[in-house]
Amino acid sequence: MSENIKTVADATCTFCGCVCDDIVLSVDMDTHQITKSQNACVLGKAWFKEHSIEERPAALIAGRPATTEEGVEEAAQILAKARYPIIYGLSDTTCEAQRVAVSIADMIGGIVDTTTSVCHGPTGMAFQGIGESTASLGEVRNRADLVIFWGGNPAEAHPRLFTRYAVTPKGMYVPNGRKDRTIVLVDVRRTQSTPVADIFLQVKPRTDFEVLWALRALVKGLKVDESIEERTGVSLAVLEDLANRMKTCRFGVIFFGMGITMNRGRHFNAGALLALGTDLNQFTHFVVAPARGHGNVSGADNVVSWQTGFPFGVNFNRGYPRFNPGEWTTVDVLCRGEADAAMIIASDPASNFPKAAIEHLKRIPVITLDPKTTVTSTLARVAFTTATYGINVPGTVYRMDNVPISLRPAFESPYPSDQQILTAIRERVSALLGGNRLPVNTAPTAAAS
Ligand code: SF4
Repeated sequence: MSENIKTVADATCTFCGCVCDDIVLSVDMDTHQITKSQNACVLGKAWFKEHSIEERPAALIAGRPATTEEGVEEAAQILAKARYPIIYGLSDTTCEAQRVAVSIADMIGGIVDTTTSVCHGPTGMAFQGIGESTASLGEVRNRADLVIFWGGNPAEAHPRLFTRYAVTPKGMYVPNGRKDRTIVLVDVRRTQSTPVADIFLQVKPRTDFEVLWALRALVKGLKVDESIEERTGVSLAVLEDLANRMKTCRFGVIFFGMGITMNRGRHFNAGALLALGTDLNQFTHFVVAPARGHGNVSGADNVVSWQTGFPFGVNFNRGYPRFNPGEWTTVDVLCRGEADAAMIIASDPASNFPKAAIEHLKRIPVITLDPKTTVTSTLARVAFTTATYGINVPGTVYRMDNVPISLRPAFESPYPSDQQILTAIRERVSALLGGNRLPVNTAPTAAAS
């Protein structure tokens, strides 16, 4: 075993939206392997342990090794010539890189979209329609005495949401930790998270909206028919009990997952949850928050929002930002065969997008930025190798509660960061366009707006 071990205190795990910033890493500086990751959950430990710097060219152009500079030139040529380019991904990179990506989309009159469009996009739409009652995870830890998880499985997706913030930790106003909290789980099936719950509501698939609307009625003291059980699988007595607990707790929180947003009803479901939260704030303090998946997907929402006014799926085609999910979101643009170039940053859509979208990606020049070889990078015209954010790259990420966290990288990578490559591409595109943004694009769009 190497003697050359470096300890990194307060390192940050960017594997999931909890963005735990209390990790103590031991790094073998001879092999650049992370040998220990104290405080990390099983997912975080795997994230650090499996981190290795792939030995591959700085860039591949049409499968042939190239330098970063050659890759930048090729990528800039593709983007500057494109009539309807799309920039996608961004949830696993720093805010500093995200803001450069947005400015490139603006410069080339393209679309910028993030993985939010395939996870909590409906939540973003619901926020705009209903509003949001927020709290930091620290407030949840110190105050929440009723915690509800709806349509998610934190035990397997965000393990430390239970142990660090919402179920077991002792807090200022919940000094006995788990004993002071009531935990409720709502889902269509039992999962690894179910044993944590005091109360489990198994709802029939695709009836979340009905359950939520019934709860809203009960919270307001309105009558709900017994037939709700036949419709949703949850008895009126159970719903009445939950409504009562919600109204009488001191600080309630609902964390919700993709069981709400990627289900029948989508943004109506998310909106119903947020509206329930609004109703409950007439009786007590209640917070409704999405449990976000990727390490900096909340950062992507923040960066795209503060630069364009919209959280994802933003089209600069007319020289100003427009937002229309379903029209300018990546899956839709690709499935309709509209984009004529794509730049994918820290994401692998070719491994999980619908077939029609992947087929279109194969037909157009694709640029990828990724530390690893992925399905998408293997079909790319230009594939950059990048350093891993958090482990090799400093910067800012947003935790799922929108608290910004500074990264403390463990060691340097021989490869550049996403931000460095994107900045070089932006400079070159700007030069190719004569320092100006493209004139208003004449590319086809599916719907006039
Ligand atoms: S909960 Fe998420 S951020 Fe925290 S250690 Fe586990 S994987 Fe990493």
